[in-house]
Parts: sequence; structure tokens; C-alpha cells
Amino acid sequence: MFNLVKGTHDIILNEADKYTYVEQTLIQFAEFYNFKEFRTPIIESSDLFQRSVGDSSDIVRKEMYTFLDKGDRSITLRPEITAGIIRSIVNNKLLALGDYPVKAYYVGPCFRYERPQQGRYRQFNQFGIEIAGVTSPYRDVEAISFGYFALKLLGFENLKLKINSLGDDESRKNYREALNKYFASYVDQMCDDCKERYKLNVLRILDCKIKEDQEIIKNAPKISDYLTDKSKDYFQKVLNSLDELGIEYEIDDGLVRGLDYYSDVVFEFHYTSSKGLSYGALGAGGHYNKLIGEIGGPKDCEGCGLAMGIERLVSVMEDDGLFSNIDDGIDCYIMPLSQEFQPNALNILSLLRLNGFKSEVSLEGKSLKAMFKKALKLNAKFALIIGEDEIKTNSIICKNLSNQEQESILIEDLVRYLDSQIDAEEEHHHECCCHDHNESDKDCCCHAHDDEGKHCCHNQNEDHECCREKKGN
Ligand code: AMP
Repeated sequence: MFNLVKGTHDIILNEADKYTYVEQTLIQFAEFYNFKEFRTPIIESSDLFQRSVGDSSDIVRKEMYTFLDKGDRSITLRPEITAGIIRSIVNNKLLALGDYPVKAYYVGPCFRYERPQQGRYRQFNQFGIEIAGVTSPYRDVEAISFGYFALKLLGFENLKLKINSLGDDESRKNYREALNKYFASYVDQMCDDCKERYKLNVLRILDCKIKEDQEIIKNAPKISDYLTDKSKDYFQKVLNSLDELGIEYEIDDGLVRGLDYYSDVVFEFHYTSSKGLSYGALGAGGHYNKLIGEIGGPKDCEGCGLAMGIERLVSVMEDDGLFSNIDDGIDCYIMPLSQEFQPNALNILSLLRLNGFKSEVSLEGKSLKAMFKKALKLNAKFALIIGEDEIKTNSIICKNLSNQEQESILIEDLVRYLDSQIDAEEEHHHECCCHDHNESDKDCCCHAHDDEGKHCCHNQNEDHECCREKKGN
């Protein structure tokens, strides 16, 4: 037996379905925002992260999986994906013609040597977006609104968006000076990490989680008092636009983020599950005004982005029962009554699968009772039974496992029969069942009506009958 490496976890079976569901939902939503997929290598040269994430960040100082390869090159397993995406955009000269912006999305594993705890792994998965070539504060709003509405789409209702501005270079230079002055008289009493942060990048001290240090940090100067007019104006435009879009936020002037490349707007999405558990930030991001130039791209080209931790999304969604719409069942389970009918079963199985029915077969020589038990376990819609009579008549017994009705169907009619059964079932599920009903509590009575006062919903079934998001059983 081999144990998992500390801080890693297997994502298997139903759990993997949940990951796929979350990732697919985010990918589809990113496509609506016109982001394009980028797949970059998991290994990159170490100096890419030293330059981008920054030598003073905890990630570069303590958390990177770095090794020398057989050619003596220093290689790092990516601790985050933004740096690789920007490197790829630059290497592929996607910004060279000034055709801004380049909009990328990505999903994949990241590696950080952190202390494993709830919502914190050493290998974890991130989904993220980057907008390279930002020329307006409303691109930052686009990134934030993507994150906000994507999380809503996944079912997160009581989201808390925390936002701050780190200002431009000048704002941060002035702020750093003020912080240096303030912490000078306290740094000797602070933790070893803070002593080092004081030397490397005093801003990092604001991230310290140690209680005694937080007491000191509480009274430190605030970035908002050091923003240049330009940065203030930029931040205000972003906030006004969020107001317009109905995106609620909370300004948190202690929010600095753990990666050195951020400037101006930074933000995090927080959520507390119905069990009262908080897993840290579900997603976070911000604006970067120097990163693209530092990686070799056009000097004044700015960008912004956001990354979400899939592990955290899945954990909170599990806690809050937000996966109820995943259908992990199958359509058909084929049950040959004797081993000699297995070749026939296999032909039918192939016919079904090629016609889009998710199907499985019993080839283990089980009793009829055991096969029914397995069909239930697989959450099958239909049990298809093949016995001697069925072989002779080129037919099959179809048992609908939701209403227990069964019929003998000719193989040549099987696909049509199953289609009509499944359609009928879905029709039943799609009957209108709104929150609001009219006085007789019978007929559909939606909020929206058309000009003539008739029902007029967004979604309609094929017969154009009312069919809202909320469906009846
Ligand atoms: P960052 O790249 O640090 O800005 O993090 C972006 C998001 O990735 C966070 O909000 C988390 O959801 C997720 N994340 C970061 N580190 C970890 C980790 N060690 N384990 C799980 N998720 C993480």
C-alpha cells in the first residue's frame, strides 16, 4: 500500500462528477464573456515565478516545489497560473500588434507547499480568467462581474465581495514609506515572518495572521490615505460601475493579496456555508500594471484577472446541497437472463450507446434479483431484460423503473420507444410550477406578462407553454 502524498487528494467517482460540473459551468460561462481557453505547462522555469509572483511573497519564499532537472535547469511546479498565461501570451506575440485585449481562461492543478488544512491543499485546482491589454477600468469590472455572476450561477447566494485599491506605483511608494515609519518601532515585537517582510516588502506585513501582530497592524496607516488622484479616480469608476450592475461589495482596506504583481484594484469573494463554515476566499484577483512588461511584453500593457479554487467551491457546494441537479444515473441497464445471451446483450448495448443512451450491461452471471438491485444502485431509468422468448422474437422487455410498468418491445423499435418514454418523463418534469400562483392556485401566474397580459416567461417548452426555471415533479 502506498499513501497519498501529504496535502494531496484523489478526486474520484461522484466527487469527480462534481469537479466536472463546476469546471464545465465556469467554462461555459467564460465562453459567454468571450474568453478563450489557454492550456499552459504545469512546469515553468523558476525565475518566471520569482519575477511575477515576487521574491517577497510567501509563495516564492516558502511554498514552491522547485527542483533541478537533468539538464541543471531550475524548474518549478506552477503555484498559480497567471504567470504562465501571460508568458504564453507574450511568447506567442498575441499583444504585439496592439490588438487588445487578449482574454484567456484556464483550469488545472497548482502546487504550493503549504500547511494542509480545511480548504488548503498542496495540489489543488484553479479556474481563472485573465484580460491582457486593459485600457479601461471597466475591464476590471468585467473580471469582477464574471466572478460574481459565475458564483451566483453555481448557487452561491450570500456572497461577500471584498475590494480594495493598492494604487499605482506612486501611491504604493508613498504608502510603503508610511508603513516603514509606522512598523519601525514595532517590528522587534513581531513574528519572525514579519521581521523578514519588513525587510523585503513591508506591505506583506498586512497579511500576517498572527493575533498579537494583528493588534499592531490594526492601527497602521491605511492605503486609502495614500492613493494618488489617478488611482482614486480609477477605483471610484470601478465602484460606481459595480453599483450600476447591482454587485454588492465591501471596501476592505486591509486587503493586499499575497502576490506581488497586483496594483490598483484587488478583490476577493468570501462565502460562509449554511453550516457556518468558511473556507477562506473562494476566488480572488486584481489588476496588474507591470506584470506583462516584466515578463517581456509591451511595457505599458496592463492586465487583470481572477482565480477560483475548485476544491473550495466543491466543498462549500457539498455543505450547502448545491449539487442536487447532477444526474449521475444511467438510462438503461441490460440484464441477460443467461450467460449465453450475453452476445445479444452486447449488440443491444452498442445500439443504445451509439444512439446516445447512457447504458450498462450485466456480464457477471448474477440472478435476476441481484441484477435489479444493481440497476437501482446505478440509478437506471430502464431495466432491459433478455430471456429466451426475447431472443426468439427479436425483442426485449423494457421495465420503466420509476413507474414499474413494463412492455415487450421489438429491437427495431427500441430506440424510438426509449426516446418517447424519456420525452414523456421530461415533459412531466417540465410542467409549470412557479413560486407564485394565481388565486385559484392552479394556473400558472408568472411575474412577467406580455402586452396583452398573457403569461410570458423566459423559458418555454416546445409547445410554448409556460415552463420556468423552477420545474415541478
Ligand atoms: P491565489 O492564487 O492565492 O490568489 O488564490 C486564488 C484562489 O485559489 C483562492 O481564493 C483559493 O480559492 C484557491 N487556493 C489558493 N491556495 C489554495 C490551496 N493551497 N488549496 C486550495 N485552494 C487554494
